[in-house]
Amino acid sequence: MPKSGFTNLTVREITKKQVEDVFKERGYEKNESFSSWVMNTVNSALQKQIYCDTKYPTLRHVHIDNEEDKEFVVYDKTTNKVAVITTEEGEIECTTCKSESCSHKDFAMLHPKFMNKIILS
Ligand SMILES: [Zn+2]
Repeated sequence: MPKSGFTNLTVREITKKQVEDVFKERGYEKNESFSSWVMNTVNSALQKQIYCDTKYPTLRHVHIDNEEDKEFVVYDKTTNKVAVITTEEGEIECTTCKSESCSHKDFAMLHPKFMNKIILS
């Protein structure tokens, strides 16, 4: 039974362990409690999702099962087509638009998978 003003959230044990491992490995435990860090992280992710949904309402990331894939695929509901975002010699390219800037590239750059797998690798 949680204390007054609080509630429990049920998640899979393996999920909790994965999140807790990141919490400990990154040293976040020095600054705040696990539950506080989890809620701050969830709120941050939620704010980013709301921003993306508002700024790019017709774009969605297409999940790719191959974790080694260096391409980031965006589905565009406006055109009913996918845009593939790649990096060539440090330049971010959109195979659909082939222009210097486009919403597909901007959308991709807001996604952590794109940042971790493509930009930082
Ligand atoms: Zn594009």
